[in-house]
Amino acid sequence: MSELDFLTGIDDVPPTPILIAPDPILRQITRDVAPEDIAFLRKQLPGMFSAMYKAPGIGLAAPQVGIDLRFAIIDLADEKEPRDPLILINPEIVEDSEQMAAREEGCLSLPNQYAEVIRPESIRVRYRDLQGDVIEREADGLLATCIQHEMDHLDGVLFVDHLSTLKRNMIMRRLAKEQKFKKK
Ligand SMILES: [Zn+2]
Repeated sequence: MSELDFLTGIDDVPPTPILIAPDPILRQITRDVAPEDIAFLRKQLPGMFSAMYKAPGIGLAAPQVGIDLRFAIIDLADEKEPRDPLILINPEIVEDSEQMAAREEGCLSLPNQYAEVIRPESIRVRYRDLQGDVIEREADGLLATCIQHEMDHLDGVLFVDHLSTLKRNMIMRRLAKEQKFKKK
């Protein structure tokens, strides 16, 4: 039995609802995952992966589904590729490059909103897996961006916080308008 067996029937799992900005829960700072949290965390994974795949999105952090724990899930595989799930528990960036890169970002908590964000081009990240083993890996390109974006969520930071106030306000206003329209 593999850790990720639940992915086999993932399309039938009800997606966990994703919180939309400016929900104040998205601004909370999460606490470290302790060994006794792992059973709870595992139970959240199918609904979270289902929500991320259905959206579709490439990353989802615990606060986006109202969970106050430092973990996030990522899958960069496109539709034609086999799924490639990554679960980051208590991630920390241990090194980042001086070289910066600009990449367009979006977020499942800010649907339909995109903007270019400048971040370190490559990073070295340390995290725990479901077994509690410490993993360290290097990431660059889209994966580096995605890891940094998801880790921001664990500290209550959204990608729009990296933009000018003017740009951020514009996006938040547009989002609020679209959400209001959606509810009617
Ligand atoms: Zn996000």
